[in-house]
Amino acid sequence: MLDSAGRFAPSPSGDLHIGNVRTGILAYLWARGTGRGFRWRIEDLDRVSPGAAERQLEEFRALGLEIDGPIVRQTQRIEHYAAACARLDEQGLVYECYCSRKDIQSAPSAPHAPPGAYPGTCRDLAEDERIAARARLERAGRAPALRLRTTTAQRPVVDEVLGTLTAHIDDVVLRRGDGVWAYNLAVVVDDAAMGIDQVVRGDDLASSAPRQALLCDLLGLPVPAYAHVPLVLNPAGARLAKRDGAVTLEQLRAQRFDVWAWMGESLGFGRWMDLDDALASFDPAGIRREATVFDPPPLTPAETEPPANRR
Ligand code: GLU
Repeated sequence: MLDSAGRFAPSPSGDLHIGNVRTGILAYLWARGTGRGFRWRIEDLDRVSPGAAERQLEEFRALGLEIDGPIVRQTQRIEHYAAACARLDEQGLVYECYCSRKDIQSAPSAPHAPPGAYPGTCRDLAEDERIAARARLERAGRAPALRLRTTTAQRPVVDEVLGTLTAHIDDVVLRRGDGVWAYNLAVVVDDAAMGIDQVVRGDDLASSAPRQALLCDLLGLPVPAYAHVPLVLNPAGARLAKRDGAVTLEQLRAQRFDVWAWMGESLGFGRWMDLDDALASFDPAGIRREATVFDPPPLTPAETEPPANRR
């Protein structure tokens, strides 16, 4: 096993767009630039589009990126999430939560907690209240979620791009009511098992870092170094999406768009010619800190047709 590595861990919910690809390339350059391995994880616990994981990997390999070690798939690691949850449970840090999303939204928030944080409704229920709540859920065809009995609301994390992250930590979901292991738990367990000591990902996940670091602490796992990088936005200022136009590498290449040149320029390094050029000029301190706006070319008529109609 590699003891020092970065990683890319896309959810296989569809083809990657150029913004996701840029984040993956940054993770790669940052890992290689600091003498680390680079690993790949398929985060397929949720929202899987058939074939997407394979296409995402193919895209990266086609760019020349070399991946170390076996590809890890979260759906093959369920027993490790269960074991980690059991370790937390042994410490008295897990409780069942019977709340629906609506229950949480309509509950008054806890003092000092930001809106949307879990207010702790099920944290200190008596056993008879739990039995009644479980039965009520069962009648509705639902099962309880599992939550972490958070030991602190603050677990500051030093981020290499954003500085100190102090997002509030509520009672994080460990396993959802539908039985799916939650993102935060799976990430922490997998990163440690894969020898990941550097996490470079989009800054939409920056507020997850303190809760993930706390989970590491509670599980006795090392906390990786974090770098949350700016996202690519569409001209309206929203996160770039597939409906915005030609945004996948395949669509852009069909339009002779120079992916490497755009990557280098958008990150503040000037036009890159290829991966070697990127590796030579990349410097974490030089990354442009602002979000990049990408105005995608319109899709060609052939690309807007549903795939089944394409010849
Ligand atoms: N699977 C997550 C995503 O595609 C990334 C998780 C992570 O990097 O921690 O947004």
